[in-house]
Amino acid sequence: MVMRTDAKLDYLVAQMAELRAKGLFNTIRTIGGPQGAWLAVDGRRVLNMCSNNYLGLAADPRLIDAATDAMRRYGLGPGAVRTIAGTMDLHVALERRLAAFKGVDDTITFQSGFATNQATIPALAGKGDAIISDALNHASIIDGIRLSSADRYVYDHADMASLEAQLQAAAAKGYRATLIVTDGVFSMDGDIAPLDRIAALAERFGAITMVDDAHGEGVLGRGGRGAVDHFGLHGVFDIETGTLSKAFGAVGGYTAAKQPIVDWLRQRGRPFLFSSAMTVPDVAACLAAVDVLESSTERVDRLWANAQHFQGALRDLGFDLGMTATPITPVIVGDEALAQRFSAQLFERGVLGTAIAFPTVALGRARIRAMVSAAHSTADLDVAIDAFARVGRSLGVLGA
Ligand code: PMP
Repeated sequence: MVMRTDAKLDYLVAQMAELRAKGLFNTIRTIGGPQGAWLAVDGRRVLNMCSNNYLGLAADPRLIDAATDAMRRYGLGPGAVRTIAGTMDLHVALERRLAAFKGVDDTITFQSGFATNQATIPALAGKGDAIISDALNHASIIDGIRLSSADRYVYDHADMASLEAQLQAAAAKGYRATLIVTDGVFSMDGDIAPLDRIAALAERFGAITMVDDAHGEGVLGRGGRGAVDHFGLHGVFDIETGTLSKAFGAVGGYTAAKQPIVDWLRQRGRPFLFSSAMTVPDVAACLAAVDVLESSTERVDRLWANAQHFQGALRDLGFDLGMTATPITPVIVGDEALAQRFSAQLFERGVLGTAIAFPTVALGRARIRAMVSAAHSTADLDVAIDAFARVGRSLGVLGA
């Protein structure tokens, strides 16, 4: 029987009640001010341990000034999609600056990191091709693969024997092209993909390589040039996708690659062809962010020093931080409801640390995903460490 609207609404309400019962329902806090080390949440000042504002640029005066100046000259919106309304020289300037920063032929920007993967993957792999994907890849990669008509092979997370087995299975089928795709830094665990070993296997099997560097951008490599730079694989790894919504402090995304690939994405990347471009203030802010990154490594250095301080202290307390090798700090507690209680008690102590549970991570691997930023002072981090210690003891995650 057809489900009418009322029945559908009842069904959705029941589903959400079930999510609540399992500790899986997302509640979203409302923030009354800019992103920074501290936030105004429901009229309270709380310590921000959950944003991806790695370098503290989301409210940087230089980015705000650049965005404001650009709005006075160019207005707000791009008018329509670029193939129809034309491309503002501002967007072209950002793409050139990003290409120089990344050390690639060219880049193309999209509206978000999510849109970037939706544009890039289906444009480069289709019917008759194979895509080989890490089991823990981000949802935007998974959806990008779904949108392509390519056959999908999944290898065990960061497991090179498993990747080789999948490459062999694909080779036996005689596909036209094979694309290996991986996150550079895995967003829920903070570990770094072994891009050097992936590139070596790709070379053996003649596969094309793509890395989503959303969490490596502004974090890894020389002055935050990303995961490919971290491994010294310039010109070897074929495609880098990135976001402008984390370290760069604004909203947007881009693909960095050799010229024919970027040219092709301008012809066939569907979010480029059918969705309007990044807004003027976002583009101008990102140009200013590139200026900041190119002028000094100070913020990137501070981010890493902060990560070392925070993670060292949490490990000394006895917390399980999984396999992180970056400022992403998963404090793994296991049970979904326990993670929700942990987050609630942190908030009572003035610390915003969001619980992450299934389906974002595996069942039984729920965690508080604490994010360190260059915006934090050592004193800020000490406030967070103290709160984690007290809540960890009170909930029995740590010994008494
Ligand atoms: N890729 C990865 C690995 C991510 O972590 C994210 C953000 N959560 C995205 C893509 C999407 O980026 P954006 O927020 O700019 O859409």
